[in-house]
Amino acid sequence: MGEALVDLVGLLPGETEALMETWGQPRYRGRQLFQWVQARRATSVEAMTSLSRRLRADLPSRARISRPAVATLRQATDGTRKYLLRLGDGEAIESVLIPDEDRLTACISTQVGCPLACRFCLTGLMGVRRNLTAAEIVGEVLLLQDQLAAGEELSNLVLMGMGEPLLNFPAVERALTILCDERGANFSPRRITLSTAGHVPGIQRLAASNLGVNLAVSLSATTDAVRDLIMPINKRWPIAELLKACRDYPLPNRRRLTFEYVMLDGVNDSPEDARRLVRLLHGLRCKVNLIPFNATPDLPDRPSPRPRIEAFQQILCDAHLTATIRESRGRDISAACGMLRVEKDKA
Ligand code: SAH
Repeated sequence: MGEALVDLVGLLPGETEALMETWGQPRYRGRQLFQWVQARRATSVEAMTSLSRRLRADLPSRARISRPAVATLRQATDGTRKYLLRLGDGEAIESVLIPDEDRLTACISTQVGCPLACRFCLTGLMGVRRNLTAAEIVGEVLLLQDQLAAGEELSNLVLMGMGEPLLNFPAVERALTILCDERGANFSPRRITLSTAGHVPGIQRLAASNLGVNLAVSLSATTDAVRDLIMPINKRWPIAELLKACRDYPLPNRRRLTFEYVMLDGVNDSPEDARRLVRLLHGLRCKVNLIPFNATPDLPDRPSPRPRIEAFQQILCDAHLTATIRESRGRDISAACGMLRVEKDKA
């Protein structure tokens, strides 16, 4: 009594094996348990028919299988589904399913809120409340998989929801290791992208890890003066230091870094900015993703007019940089970063 239940969702396969050993079970039971939780997405022991009857009877008093709860679901006309998820302590986070022609991407959160206070980001307005646990991050993905229609399958995972993943590195690393395990959800690291606002020590840690996921860096400015204003993290790790960490990042063959660039009217969208960006990224194996700003009355900036975004893109393309304009998804359901949670907080 009083002993906290182990949450199986946050355990690595080796840990479920060790757990079974401490319960006097054979180690292979731990692998079975991991498979039940991570690959077959069981949420109760009743389903786990390959386990012994005794183990099934014992489990509920010793372990639990947590899932965030769906507080709100909004479905956009373009198929985007946005979830406000309720965690065990009542906090709320956002996760999004984004279907494409040939992909189905899950965009997941890594923190409740975010401490970085980027000027164009709604999540930043609320500050950070806490880090997600590895079980909560894995839980987001398992829950989204539970939500899929027959025939649908998640193809990609992006850590671009609420929070700065590199400020919660241990939990993110653990969650991604669990999700990529072939006995579990079996995600390929090359279909996972971690996006950072530019936390340099975190980029170095990620480089030293063997996660092998793709890295996206939210650059969004070409001078320190402007980046200091719109992304305060730049005061700590300015552009030159950030790009040095990117140059030092060991990229596997045929892979590229992504630089995200939120287009803000009159702030960072001039032809001079585009030309400076070309010079800054010279020699980096990368592509640029231009993101039309998702405006809300709570944020000071306005979106760049479409022609200016296209002119910006043209300058990059003329300099042989791959540059795409991100298609805005789920506009009719407040799908941009932090919007749903902020609306609910106001209500
Ligand atoms: N903290 C990480 C991941 C979360 S933000 C990061 O900064 O990369 C994911 C992406 O959404 C970032 O590229 C960010 O610049 C972008 N973003 C945030 N608010 C936005 C808004 N209002 N409109 C468009 N893009 C936004």
